[in-house]
Amino acid sequence: MSLEVFTKQNFSDKIILWYETHHRDLPWRETQNPYYIWLSEVILQQTRVKQGLPYYERFVETYPTIADLANAPEDEVFRLWQGLGYYSRAKNMLHTAKIIHQEYQDKFPNTYDKLLTLKGIGKYTAAAIASFAFEEPVAVLDGNVYRVLARYFGISTDIASPQGAKEFGKLSQELLPEKKSHIYNQAIMEFGAVQCSPQKPDCMYCPLRESCYAYNHNKQQELPIKINKVKVKERFFAYTIFENNDKIALRKRTGKDIWQNLYDFHLTELDSLESLNDFMDTAWAKTDISVGKISSVYKHQLTHQKIFIKFFHIQINNSQLLSVFSKDLQFFNKDEAHELPKPILIANYLLE
Ligand code: SF4
Repeated sequence: MSLEVFTKQNFSDKIILWYETHHRDLPWRETQNPYYIWLSEVILQQTRVKQGLPYYERFVETYPTIADLANAPEDEVFRLWQGLGYYSRAKNMLHTAKIIHQEYQDKFPNTYDKLLTLKGIGKYTAAAIASFAFEEPVAVLDGNVYRVLARYFGISTDIASPQGAKEFGKLSQELLPEKKSHIYNQAIMEFGAVQCSPQKPDCMYCPLRESCYAYNHNKQQELPIKINKVKVKERFFAYTIFENNDKIALRKRTGKDIWQNLYDFHLTELDSLESLNDFMDTAWAKTDISVGKISSVYKHQLTHQKIFIKFFHIQINNSQLLSVFSKDLQFFNKDEAHELPKPILIANYLLE
């Protein structure tokens, strides 16, 4: 047996052994129901386990079957999702639930290839469902797995590049043990999340330490290599909150932009922080409207956008006047507004 083959087999065995004693008890690990596994995977994309867990529990409780989710009103699903961000996930999730309900009679497709044809299910999620629910021997490759493999095997290929996806994909498939592939997949992801974590890997108590490249070359902080080519765009939002007694005006966002299908206030997008700060002087200067409270500037960070937001309150005594400003705006009382799905920054602002 070559040293390379030995090392790879040894690696998988050690990861599984580690998992048996160190894994966290999480509800989606106790089930092979593909619907619950899919829910957990969609929720946990871009979200930490601690933050995602209560959302998972709420979704399972509110929609115990995929038919329940497929038949749920869109606003209700988005409201339950509020705070998780990346709302396209919730939109795709609902779309896919309807397809599985209508075209597959509530039965999840049971292979990696078939799962990949569904909207919102990419390579990673298809592999996770195929592996955990149907025990198909296909390797999962998420950020945790990339990190563990890059560090342990000393791979410096950019994990965000097509070459990286190919190289790591091949290696992770080779490492997959014939038996227990579904346990190994869980194990390596958990190992990356708990033991070989991004900032502070616990090398001192790591069972792979002796043969780990990063540990032996002191390269834990350098690996994996990820070259992020996407620039963060800055945007400046002036939100005017029209108020009529205890009601506030909101509208549903329908355009192809962030926060699609969520509710926000009357929005004027500006081109600089300076224009945002001067907004009141320029926007309503020539009108009879008197501006009430003006908030400070809030910053909201999305993956590829940094948004600077300021809120301006305006009382209008005649609710008919609202249509002068925008046809989409509608007045809601406090309770109604609370129930609407909103970007988390707006939901929090209303609670202040
Ligand atoms: S020794 Fe450190 S860097 Fe290497 S696999 Fe273990 S935790 Fe990760």
